[in-house]
Amino acid sequence: MSTIFSQIVEGEIPARVVYEDETTMAFLDANPLAPGHTLVIPKDEYERLNDIPDDVATDLYATIHRLIPAVEESVDADASTVAFNNGEEAGQEVPHVHCHIVPRFEGDGGGPIHAIAGDRPELADDELDDIAADIESRA
Ligand code: AMP
Repeated sequence: MSTIFSQIVEGEIPARVVYEDETTMAFLDANPLAPGHTLVIPKDEYERLNDIPDDVATDLYATIHRLIPAVEESVDADASTVAFNNGEEAGQEVPHVHCHIVPRFEGDGGGPIHAIAGDRPELADDELDDIAADIESRA
């Protein structure tokens, strides 16, 4: 069973496609958070960011890099929030990697990306040191 975004890639369901190349595609979000809200996807189905092979990840970033100014300029935005929901627990509803480019406007009432989390944890310095060392050892 292919994802709804694969069905868009295959032309089986309609979308307002704004860019397409061999490995990536961008189209307007069907339920936009702002005018110009655009999704950028790899054409092949990968559920999470780290499922994407390096060469496709490079292509995906190139398309995001290309689309951000195109989207912002087209709706005369002041800025944009660019984000991935990476996994169901992070709010990902469609299990096919997609980058949200959401145009932002002065006074639009939206928040920063910090608003996604719940209460901030209280972490002691030694806990932060341990976490940093652990991430560094895996990077
Ligand atoms: P996420 O919660 O990150 O998985 O976001 C999925 C996004 O896909 C939502 O913003 C939806 O509005 C959008 N979406 C779902 N179906 C379609 C569709 N057929 N065409 C365009 N956007 C869609």
